[in-house]
Amino acid sequence: MHVLILGGTGEARRLAGLLYDADLSGMRVTSSLAGRVAAPRLPAGEVRVGGFGGAEGLAQWLRTHRVDVLIDATHPFARTISFNAAAAAAAAHVPLLALRRPGWVPQEGDRWHAADSLDDAASLLAELGRRVFLTTGRMGLAAFAHLDELWFLMRSVDAPEPPCPARMEVLLDRGPFTLDGEREVLRAHGIDVLVTKDSGGAATAPKLTAAREAGIPVVVVRRPPVPDGVGVAATPEEAAAWVRQFSG
Ligand code: NAP
Repeated sequence: MHVLILGGTGEARRLAGLLYDADLSGMRVTSSLAGRVAAPRLPAGEVRVGGFGGAEGLAQWLRTHRVDVLIDATHPFARTISFNAAAAAAAAHVPLLALRRPGWVPQEGDRWHAADSLDDAASLLAELGRRVFLTTGRMGLAAFAHLDELWFLMRSVDAPEPPCPARMEVLLDRGPFTLDGEREVLRAHGIDVLVTKDSGGAATAPKLTAAREAGIPVVVVRRPPVPDGVGVAATPEEAAAWVRQFSG
């Protein structure tokens, strides 16, 4: 049985590890990475890197490589590949499950402002602060590039490319992050507003606690929807159990 995991997340790596351990049962596990990160953490099992060429290319890949089960374990904000996965799985008649860690839930003391997109987040910022901690990743910085009055601390794994805000410092780092570390980032840079996607998960959640403690407002960009009709697992363990039902 051949399982293809669309990856790029910690959950995808954990799922590959869980299924690879079950490799004794003859399961072949391939993880697919987009190739955005220069030196990605690699999962267990086989790895392929790079786009498929849209939904049709992915459907063709599923057929050519005789994939039996497809798991979309991409980041909750990787919208295009998730919709391509749904179309390709339907076309190639391959069962599909989305693995999505739950979103974050506000707690007492949080000052969250919901945004529907990065553009929407940018439009809220001037009202909320002057020194912005931007943690939405290096893609999509163009949405903030026109905000000349604001100063940005932009954290990402790899360096961003223009267009970027004029007044911006880059902090190259990769989670998981600690609460002490996040407190220090906010303090050392005089941050007065935080911007994040609702990525969910523990690895990047300490910034929310640090912001709550410091009374700093947080702009939280809402997730895009999971494609219609696609089942969702919240944990790698749940997804692994779903896969195993097909292994006879
Ligand atoms: P996206 O906008 O949904 O996808 C754009 C294109 O990238 C897709 O059409 C596909 O190209 C290719 N692609 C994306 N994920 C792929 C994968 N796992 N394997 C092979 N090709 C893939 O994706 P994105 O938001 O740029 O994210 C790219 C990758 O980074 C994803 O794997 C995601 O899990 C990871 N990531 C994203 C975020 C985020 O905030 N978006 C955060 C952390 C990690 P083709 O059409 O040519 O197949």
